[in-house]
Amino acid sequence: MLGTIKSNERIAPNFWAYEFTSVSSSDIPTLSPLFTYLLPWLQKTRDQFGYGIQPTSFYRNAIDNFRVGGSNKSAHLKAFAVDFKIPDLDNLKDKQKAVYEFLCSLPGIRCAWYKESQFFHIDCGTLLEPETYGAWKEIRNA
Ligand SMILES: [Zn+2]
Repeated sequence: MLGTIKSNERIAPNFWAYEFTSVSSSDIPTLSPLFTYLLPWLQKTRDQFGYGIQPTSFYRNAIDNFRVGGSNKSAHLKAFAVDFKIPDLDNLKDKQKAVYEFLCSLPGIRCAWYKESQFFHIDCGTLLEPETYGAWKEIRNA
């Protein structure tokens, strides 16, 4: 459940609420980062490339974050981050790299491309809590 938003509700031109709730812990503390930053960035990426974007992780409570091996300072713990895959680009590393470079161009974003696992992480930690979340953009060989 996403507060008062129904899971089958369209929350951006190419995104539905259930895509985020189904990959999150149930106790999402706030949705404002999703609507203010994360969804607009995801939609811009969708508009730029036209590929379907599949969220794989959004908010994680401490237990779920530990279970998936997330950092104890992970931006997912505050609902500041989304991980996603682009199924159309499976094994197309050059095209994934172009997506990563586009993400890097979005003002204020923190992002990573997990090159081996073929997914992306974006978060707005630097914009919301710069003292906790230093700016970074990186390609990770994981
Ligand atoms: Zn992540």
